[in-house]
Amino acid sequence: MILSKYSIGVGDRFGHQARAQLEACILAAKEGIDVIPVWNKSNREHTIIGSEPASTRAAADAAVKALGWTKPYFCDADHINLATVDRFLAPCDFYTIDVADYIGKPAEQSSIDAFVKRHSELVGPIRLSGAEQNIEITPALLQNAAAKFLFAVQEAGKIYRKIEAAKGKGNFIPEVSMDETDSAQTPAELLIILAAIADEGIPIQTIAPKFSGRFNKGVDYVGDVAQFAREMALDMAAIRYAVEHYGLPANLKLSVHSGSDKFSIYPAICALMQKFSAGVHLKTAGTTWLEEIIGLAEAGGDGLALAKEIYAEAYYHSAELCAPYAAVIDIHPVKLPAPEAVTRWTSEQYTAALRHDPRLSAYNPSFRQLLHVGFKIAAKMGRRYLDLLEANEFVIAQNVTENLYARHIAPVFLGRQQEGKPA
Ligand SMILES: [Zn+2]
Repeated sequence: MILSKYSIGVGDRFGHQARAQLEACILAAKEGIDVIPVWNKSNREHTIIGSEPASTRAAADAAVKALGWTKPYFCDADHINLATVDRFLAPCDFYTIDVADYIGKPAEQSSIDAFVKRHSELVGPIRLSGAEQNIEITPALLQNAAAKFLFAVQEAGKIYRKIEAAKGKGNFIPEVSMDETDSAQTPAELLIILAAIADEGIPIQTIAPKFSGRFNKGVDYVGDVAQFAREMALDMAAIRYAVEHYGLPANLKLSVHSGSDKFSIYPAICALMQKFSAGVHLKTAGTTWLEEIIGLAEAGGDGLALAKEIYAEAYYHSAELCAPYAAVIDIHPVKLPAPEAVTRWTSEQYTAALRHDPRLSAYNPSFRQLLHVGFKIAAKMGRRYLDLLEANEFVIAQNVTENLYARHIAPVFLGRQQEGKPA
């Protein structure tokens, strides 16, 4: 199984929008660009919602069948580890092996020493083709990076081998992720990590480092875009080097765990893919669920009433809802409108506050982030929520497709920035 050059990870919390999401990939195909859909849902999401990974597979299969999609598609066991992978073994064919928690735990000194000795070629200035700068690795940096990351890579090896034993070699796409941690990995560290992953015998097709800057859920990038672009260029060059020198799969590419909506860095990602003839896996984070709320609000009537009720519940339970996502959200409580005020909102007021359109002054990132983590409220509503989704399928689907295509796929893969988006 080979992941193509361009792919997009889409979340679908309630498993009702796979078709609308696939429509966005079909729009890209009509423009001549194949963007392969990967339905990702993490163990955390399944646990919060009370769903099973098999439901993601069923929704993806049904969408593919209904729309006659003949290109590849995948189901991603997102952010799994040794303890949580089991229920993903049957339904998934893409595994995001998350070893961020093991970063900094030292491996056996003997294996660190062996790694450093085996990779003496990494010491010195490394000339990377396509990059303006060299990567400079000192003996101390190699030693420190081995001490910091080798144990995590060994853990990734254990998880990979467990999946391989269940599914068979080559029957799934392995990704290693290290993004859910405090500090970003430098391109030099990425190169050292890739050498270790190759030693561990993991044929990764995507790697998800932590990039510098903040990748909050569902809102734009916060950080130095130029610095991000410099680092990503070196990351892409390091990947190319690792493929050539360490025998990693030729299609190995970066997986950008974007948390969705990192509009400011999309032009840089697009330009760098051209420059390096590289691909990217753009993983987005379940903002399809926000498009469901937008669609319900737009529909008015019961839909709008439910959207208001969900906000009110999210507002009163914000501490509990935000806790699991504390590291990846920045909500300013004073910016959250009182639920009583929201009760009087029109459809337009609600959607303008929620929809990620930075051109509109009514857009409210705090409101958006709170609802983003508020999907548990809708999950608790059960059939009440799902029935309204189904009753308003048309308007919701339009929002889901439009969001994915115009705000994500077109800027990143077709080089078409959103109209009027401030540069
Ligand atoms: Zn991630």
